Amino acid sequence: MSEPGWFAQGSRVAVLTAEPIGRPLDYRAPEGGCREGAFVEVPLGPRKVLGVVWGPGEGGFDAAKLRSVSRVFDVAPMRGELREFLVRMGEYTMTPLPQVLRLATRAPGLGDPPGMRKIYRLGDQEPARMTDARARVLDVLQEHGGAGFHLGELAHLAGVTTQVVKGLVKTGALVEAEVPRDLPFPRLDPDLPGKELSEAQAAAAEALRAGCGGYSTTLLKGVTGSGKTEVYLEAVAECLRKGRQALVLLPEIALSSEFLSRVEARFGALPGEWHSGVTQSERRRLWKACGAGEVQLVVGARSALFLPFRDLGLIVVDEEHDSSYKQEEGVLYNARDMAVLRASGCSAQVVLASATPSLETWANAEGGKYKRLDLGARFGTAELPEMAAIDMRDEAIESAHWIGPTLVKEVVSRIALGQQAMLFLNRRGYAPVTICRACGHQIGCDHCDARMVEHRFLKRLVCHQCGETKPIPTKCPSCEVEGKLAPVGPGVERLAEEVAERFPDARVAVLSSDLFGSARALKEKIAEIAEGEADIIIGTQIVAKGHNFPRLTLVGVIDADLGLQGSDLRAAEKTFQLMRQVAGRAGRAEEKGVALLQTYQPEHPVIRAILGGDEEAFWAQEAAARQAQGVPPYGRMAGIILSGPDLQPLFEIGNHLARNDAALRRIGAQVFGPAPAPIARVRGRHRVRMLVKAEKGAPLQAALKGWLKGLKLPPNARLAVDIDPQSFL
Ligand code: ADP
Ligand code: ZN
Repeated sequence: MSEPGWFAQGSRVAVLTAEPIGRPLDYRAPEGGCREGAFVEVPLGPRKVLGVVWGPGEGGFDAAKLRSVSRVFDVAPMRGELREFLVRMGEYTMTPLPQVLRLATRAPGLGDPPGMRKIYRLGDQEPARMTDARARVLDVLQEHGGAGFHLGELAHLAGVTTQVVKGLVKTGALVEAEVPRDLPFPRLDPDLPGKELSEAQAAAAEALRAGCGGYSTTLLKGVTGSGKTEVYLEAVAECLRKGRQALVLLPEIALSSEFLSRVEARFGALPGEWHSGVTQSERRRLWKACGAGEVQLVVGARSALFLPFRDLGLIVVDEEHDSSYKQEEGVLYNARDMAVLRASGCSAQVVLASATPSLETWANAEGGKYKRLDLGARFGTAELPEMAAIDMRDEAIESAHWIGPTLVKEVVSRIALGQQAMLFLNRRGYAPVTICRACGHQIGCDHCDARMVEHRFLKRLVCHQCGETKPIPTKCPSCEVEGKLAPVGPGVERLAEEVAERFPDARVAVLSSDLFGSARALKEKIAEIAEGEADIIIGTQIVAKGHNFPRLTLVGVIDADLGLQGSDLRAAEKTFQLMRQVAGRAGRAEEKGVALLQTYQPEHPVIRAILGGDEEAFWAQEAAARQAQGVPPYGRMAGIILSGPDLQPLFEIGNHLARNDAALRRIGAQVFGPAPAPIARVRGRHRVRMLVKAEKGAPLQAALKGWLKGLKLPPNARLAVDIDPQSFL
């Protein structure tokens, strides 16, 4: 009798691949058999592709023609929990399973032998000359036993330069050795003493510890700096004590450098890292270690949610409101919501941490679906910044300038005190619009319905939709008049020019995602600024996210009205969150901070809510407004995006769908559109949108499936369904 989930050689197995076939295909189990969930290589036409043994074969297919699985990879099989999660996620997001599987098979070269790398171990000689630095290296090796360390790791742990390590090799005190690259991850010790927690922190940590071991979702809410991270690290500790694995999702790579050091300080070793900046071989190492249960804690970007953990017990989603958790290309999913889905299938705890939660999460806590823990004041002496509006109608400001006299005065006084000031403007580049003063033409992208943004630093015009760039022309592409092109409006680069003019002696740093070649360069810059290497920091929204600048005491928001324009249903929520987050950067240490918002509409309800600081009132008001309109989180929505090379056929399909909406009406859903998308063309493809609205409990996906069933698309046209859309562009 064979054990369940085991397929003996020659038996029929169904293998799912990430190829667009739509369903698992039958193969024969290879020599030696294979297990359900095994990662395998199968022949597909002339190619060999990665797949997962999804279950017993269906039969039906001619046994004589059945091909064999060519290879079983020596990694832990995909667990039933993860397979089930992928299926449920595919159903929720209405994505074909192979596409979802691709998210979970992002480990390049699974079958490759692990590469070799050099490590350093204790030798048998004593160095002739002993220094403090040398002694520290030897101490580290003596303490951590015989495994040896990679050069960078060892130098880091001992707090010395790599030269010191290499010097010790020459003396014979250390020896170099070649070992397989996939060294085990260092053990984290949950029982090292953490920081002494405040009463509020201790209570929150206790509540999270009590929830460890089963599924639950908790909103951990507290202003920036209130010590949420310390609290959820205690949940991580408890999870590790139980021998289970923990995952912390962060929205920005830039966050993780500081975060990694904090993990190291708390648990004595670094966690596994998963994001786009990690090398392929490191990804493979982490991926395998996840499956083998050999890495205890992973810190990563949203795609870390698809790692094959052996026993995932906790998922923390930090800054849970952050819009980067929503993937807007390929599989359209929100990692925050999918984290809850995955956790519910593996008895894991979810902690959603934020100072300004999404209205979705706030409402789920309000409705009792999620638990809620509140941390009040900031930790220690730091206080929340004072917030005030600067009424721009009263400011005398020259044209092509954006920093009003009031803000200038405030910045000057901070610099005089040796403190830092931050000027926030959520616009990359030099100027959002380039206009011809002779004919009024605005330079647009050739492939998109968008204006090109001047980036003076790159010396090019850039389309923020498709990334296309072109040189800044000297004559107007429309009327051909020479020398009349002029920038209109500010981006951070132009603001930097104004800062140089107004504060000629100040040291200025500009933080914008496009000004750094790599995440590492950006991290280094942030570390320098934190050390005090700048007087004025100019930044886009990347500065809003979690960085600690202890000497920062003033935040000036150049244009607080920017996000209030537009018809996005979350415009108020997003502006509120962004302004509160940015303001939260000020006064993190002993000095009290001030946040000043330049606005032309200080009476706007959102601006007043931001200044008033009565958050619960804001959320309640926003919730009531959404409830009245029947929009998320009090109603359900799906965006339908039709795209293709020609506009007319897209409208025809859209109109056809709109007329034949019986499947939607059956559940009381309404369909709006088709209408040209606000960005009506991207990369040369036209875009037409429709919107489906339904009541909260309605079976939206099933109805959509029925509605779209059998739909024929013209060649090259695509239809994407965006469940719970965040973007309506
Ligand atoms: P949040 O995650 O809410 O923004 P953090 O956990 O990052 O807050 O805490 C803000 C700052 O206060 C950090 O520098 C952190 O090290 C410090 N801090 C928080 N809690 C404690 C504590 N109990 N003891 C000492 N320092 C703390
Ligand atoms: Zn473009």
